Amino acid sequence: MLVVMAANASEQEVRGVIDFLDKLGVAGQPVGGPACTTIHVVSARNGIDSRQIRLLPGVTQVVRDGKAYKLASRDHYPADTVIKLPQASIGPDTFTIIAGPCAVENEAMAMRTAEFLMSRGVRLFRGGAYKPRTSPYSFQGLGQEGLDILGRVRKQTGIGIVTEVMDVDHVDEVEAAADIVQIGTRNMQNFSLLKRVSRSSKPVLLKRGLSATLDEWLMAAEYVMSGGNARVILCERGVRTFADHSRNTLDLSVIPAAKKSCHLSILVDPSHGTGNRDHVMPMALAGLAAGADGLLIEVHPDPPRALSDGAQSLDFGQFDLLLLKLTELAAVFGRKLN
Ligand code: PEP
Ligand code: MN
Repeated sequence: MLVVMAANASEQEVRGVIDFLDKLGVAGQPVGGPACTTIHVVSARNGIDSRQIRLLPGVTQVVRDGKAYKLASRDHYPADTVIKLPQASIGPDTFTIIAGPCAVENEAMAMRTAEFLMSRGVRLFRGGAYKPRTSPYSFQGLGQEGLDILGRVRKQTGIGIVTEVMDVDHVDEVEAAADIVQIGTRNMQNFSLLKRVSRSSKPVLLKRGLSATLDEWLMAAEYVMSGGNARVILCERGVRTFADHSRNTLDLSVIPAAKKSCHLSILVDPSHGTGNRDHVMPMALAGLAAGADGLLIEVHPDPPRALSDGAQSLDFGQFDLLLLKLTELAAVFGRKLN
């Protein structure tokens, strides 16, 4: 950060700024000789409010250099983060498919879907036990019963479990059932929840908020990382725009931008991103081509009868077709499907 002083700032005003920074625990280095015009602030610390410094006498401008997120930033940590799980690894050399129903509806459908996925080489199962629904009258998920089902699905099939946690009170149980804990779009800035999962031993799949900028998203990741959990995976699931031809606008342009700014893996969710199963395949393929590290995708044994998001869920036949196309395209990009 650079604090630009007025050309006629007094020595006392320069001293005032340095003392102020000192009280915040950061060093300010005056540059520009006796008629000091700027103060260079070197700090890896976040949370310095530049607007407050701007109020000090003699200050004309405060310029932030670099990003407010540090641990997520590629400038600070250039190497790509690879998340290694017993079932699959998520990173730049692979293309990871996480698939399953929107919600765990009952044991039979969850088991059937997991067995189908395992037979196709898909090693990570998605399915919500706690569902964030727009309407309180919609199916809210089975809660603890859903987590118990997921536990049995994992035990019987060996598939890894990705499931959402909606509030701090349920983190212990969700953590126990999950191989990856999902933070949904509506909770991307639920800071209490982010702080709690920052102490989790499980990787966190962090979905992008409905109207979050890339910086806001990465600051949310920074919450998790700064609390001690470096294993964060981003997931682009569409943002809210004026477009009304699809449920959300899947922002694939965020993938190269995120890859440049941070070292975290990024998945694409073409199911919530489009809301329409006919649009899932093209956007899934586009996600691969745009450089995503994998997909989070809704698959249901009987989409018309799904209790949530049937319209955007692939049936098994459609999923098979998608896998075929993904395998072909992954070869073009030198990625290994897992
Ligand atoms: C989900 O993946 O189950 C989900 C609810 O997604 P989102 O948070 O992106 O709406
Ligand atoms: Mn869903």
